[in-house]
Amino acid sequence: MKAIVKDKRGWGSTSGSYTVVEGYKSITTTTNIPPDPTQWRFIWAFPSLPKIDFFCWTLAHNNILTKDNLRKCGMEGPSRCPLCLSEEESAIHLMLLCPFAREVWRGVLRSGAMELPGNIPFLLHNWAKLSPFNLTKKYLLKTAWIWIPKFTCWKLWWERNNRLFKDEKCNTSKIIIKIQALLGETLDTKHGLRNEAAMDNAEEIWLKDLVPNYDSETIPPALPQANWEIHLEEQEFIKWRSALGEHYLFFDGASKGNLRAVGGGGVILNPDGSTEIRFH
Ligand SMILES: [Zn+2]
Repeated sequence: MKAIVKDKRGWGSTSGSYTVVEGYKSITTTTNIPPDPTQWRFIWAFPSLPKIDFFCWTLAHNNILTKDNLRKCGMEGPSRCPLCLSEEESAIHLMLLCPFAREVWRGVLRSGAMELPGNIPFLLHNWAKLSPFNLTKKYLLKTAWIWIPKFTCWKLWWERNNRLFKDEKCNTSKIIIKIQALLGETLDTKHGLRNEAAMDNAEEIWLKDLVPNYDSETIPPALPQANWEIHLEEQEFIKWRSALGEHYLFFDGASKGNLRAVGGGGVILNPDGSTEIRFH
């Protein structure tokens, strides 16, 4: 046996010491080259939930901690995909190639005929082009469509983690329902989104299925004008009281989202602090 050599930290080259040349080589030979910025910028153009958008941004950079990526960092371990238990796990396998994932996609899209993109940046960037609908000026419909890959990838990743770390399993039908429910709920919170162009029947049915309570108005409604309807005798009364001393007006208002139901109200207090008029 050789004499014991003490462990020491060192760069990955034979000498163990860092040089600029070695560093440059390491950066330029990495397989995790970020995609073209125009591709991932698209992720932020139609924001959904920040955690899902961020996950998709990481996914587009091939930086999620799939087993192939962990192996590149020197972490060894089982590398089989936990969804199908037959292939090696990688991001593209988990999201697009895995038979389990493909069944989820078929359910979410409600069509077995649609060809899925061959890579993840394309999936996230060019998804709108694969739409069976005309999305022009239909912002609500377009957002719903564009969110499909985001929410599907997110839930596939969720399922993969549940199987690995919690030993919990969901079948494809349950995952499909979860994707649609989360997508519908999130869309339901985007009150400002409206279609400016009318949808055809097929589009209407598709969207209604996803968001049963969506507002079918196509044109943003005009903001209703406030109408306080202060009656003549009240006006006279206010004038008369104001001459006697300082009155105080407190009022507030709120709206449920942009261009949705609005309300407001207030009170006019006498100089002694007692309430003179309430209105809403
Ligand atoms: Zn698989």
